[in-house]
Amino acid sequence: MPPTPDSIVSLVTTSHYEALNEIPAGFEGRHRYVNVITASDNPRGQNTVFVDDRVEHESWDRYFIGLLDGEAWWAVDVPPDAADPSYGAGVDLRQFHAMVSEGEWLLAARALQTAEWARTHRFCGRCATPTHPAPGERGLTCPQCGLVNYPRVAPAMITLVTRGEMGADQEVLLARGARFPVPMYSCLAGFVEPGEDLEGAVIREVKEEVGVDVDDVRYVGSQPWPFPHSLMVGFRCNYVGGDIVCEEGEILDAQWYTKDQVRAGPEAGGVMVPPTISIAGKIIQSWLAE
Ligand SMILES: [Zn+2]
Repeated sequence: MPPTPDSIVSLVTTSHYEALNEIPAGFEGRHRYVNVITASDNPRGQNTVFVDDRVEHESWDRYFIGLLDGEAWWAVDVPPDAADPSYGAGVDLRQFHAMVSEGEWLLAARALQTAEWARTHRFCGRCATPTHPAPGERGLTCPQCGLVNYPRVAPAMITLVTRGEMGADQEVLLARGARFPVPMYSCLAGFVEPGEDLEGAVIREVKEEVGVDVDDVRYVGSQPWPFPHSLMVGFRCNYVGGDIVCEEGEILDAQWYTKDQVRAGPEAGGVMVPPTISIAGKIIQSWLAE
């Protein structure tokens, strides 16, 4: 019998849809359009999306983004001065997660990132000449100096630090970030620095944010995260030593929690953890289930 894979590997699957840059030749199925809305009369902010089966104006830029269940999906860049094509029905991308399938949400996220990338690369970063779509690939090229810009993906690590042997008494280190809008406690996370590997980023960020040393860094899954263009790479790691010292300006508080404290939730004197829309929530739920 082959060895059983670690139960938490692939806790997030990335195969819900085919991410493509060009529609397959001869495609005859249905089309779906993710309007990425920045309209000035849009009350819901910058991450608003609206999925429709038609385009309001043929002149609006659109980008093929992939196939899902035999349907062709497009990102539509709604110009900032255009009237809201959803007539107020657009939904913030975070709330959209609760309304659609995982595949539809990932495509909406890809649409948002694609439109946002095109909006922010209209001019060459080297010589400031207006860019043009690169033929045959998802890129914006400079006709003057030849620089090609591709959509950015910023790798970030996220990790759950455990203390003690696996079992009912094992604890996890959860932290309240200074930027969290609610008193939520979560895994530690941070961007990978140029020239750094993922495992090095885990060890460095944990030390910077809460002052403790960790080892045995293990990959557990990944998740595209469109706020604004990250790939969250999830890890578990083990506490080695050190006292918790929170990084000023970044971490408001950090504590060790048992499974009972996490399960209890804030109403019962426990702790509020992230929802499972995020890999952080999934990693924590996966640990609880061990
Ligand atoms: Zn240029």
